[in-house]
Amino acid sequence: MISKPWQLLSPLLVCVGASGAPLAPASAQGTVAVRAAHVIDGTGAARVGPAAVLIEGDRITGIVAPGEVPAGVRVIDLGGATLLPGLIDLHTHLSGSTEVTWEEELVTTTPGYATLWGARNARVTLEAGFTTVRDMGPTWPYTDVDLRNAIDEGLVPGPRMSVAGNYVSATGGAGDARQFSIYVDVPVVRNLADGVDAVRAAVRSNFKYGADFVKILATGAVLSRGIPPGAQQYSDEEIAVAVEEAARWGRSVASHAHGAEGIKASIRAGVRTVDHGSMMDEEGLAMLLASDRTFYVPTLYVGQIVVRDGASLGIPPAEIERSRRMAEFRNATFRRALAAGLPIGFGTDAGVFPHGDNARELTLRVELGEPPMSAIVAATSLNARILGWDDRVGSIVPGMLADMVAVAGDPLADITELERVRWVMKGGVVVRDALR
Ligand SMILES: [Zn+2]
Repeated sequence: MISKPWQLLSPLLVCVGASGAPLAPASAQGTVAVRAAHVIDGTGAARVGPAAVLIEGDRITGIVAPGEVPAGVRVIDLGGATLLPGLIDLHTHLSGSTEVTWEEELVTTTPGYATLWGARNARVTLEAGFTTVRDMGPTWPYTDVDLRNAIDEGLVPGPRMSVAGNYVSATGGAGDARQFSIYVDVPVVRNLADGVDAVRAAVRSNFKYGADFVKILATGAVLSRGIPPGAQQYSDEEIAVAVEEAARWGRSVASHAHGAEGIKASIRAGVRTVDHGSMMDEEGLAMLLASDRTFYVPTLYVGQIVVRDGASLGIPPAEIERSRRMAEFRNATFRRALAAGLPIGFGTDAGVFPHGDNARELTLRVELGEPPMSAIVAATSLNARILGWDDRVGSIVPGMLADMVAVAGDPLADITELERVRWVMKGGVVVRDALR
């Protein structure tokens, strides 16, 4: 009988190095204590330390002073490091090669190729300290579902994933990857839905085939040949029916929205997140401040990188120009939301830029005026709450899954420390150890 990889990956039995190869067998069963000079628990509470986080199996059971670690417990000593919860990115695209633009993918690659790249990207993302991601959808439908399942089964290393499956777009708009001659079609890609009945059917199909949530494209996109990013591409009724149908399944909708009207239509409909949110006006901001169900998830770093490196990333000049214009709005909107005291979710659009660079979004947010602790809370406990996963991830609190990362320095003094995560634990298993 073939022994399956996940049988080798039971919590705390095996440490896996950056290469994916086993480093050393860890302790046998029982409690383990991870000791560090500083602990930031992700809830926004002040940093404590030195401290030891007690772990039993895949769960955190307590945080104690180092002197209170029970006798006989194996200690993983991280020395002067700062321990934080595993980071969460609400806007990634793990499936697909980062060397092919999404509008070329359908004619130059296969779903298998996209999924294999997904496995590679998942490992890179996990090693960068992101132990949970929401995946906003692949170009090849449902390859994210396969990737999520393979990770959950222990076949390949990667973050916990909440996936979009097959994002729902209007014909000719953002998300219509078939921007080819009318004589060219890719029939297996059925992500276009026009009209309320078609949108409702698309939501049902997504859940039938394994999506965790639904992503709709409420407005045009920056990196697209279709309708301009400021334009609302779905009617209020189409957005509302997506939310209504998802709610029947007990699930949520994430709305890609750049333009002000599409943002407001999404908030009125009750989507969980407004992603990008670039051109949000004062009315939209006020609606978000009054809402307890919809969150703003900007993606700021991607705008910078497309303008700077877009040509070498193979992005067409017209789309780079769209991005340059949109970047002016994005940063200003973020600053206004920050000044208004809005809780701001953390997302990146990784996949447009190289996977593993996700934490550069944290750096940019701090450069734009967000206090480091607030940025850390966004990427941990706030994101967990937005996902509805705050009962398992996003904080170093007893009962949570033991998803933790460590950095060598002080991220409150230098947020770029989080671009250099040195140690990663997911579910009680050390998946990266480069502290020493
Ligand atoms: Zn995206």
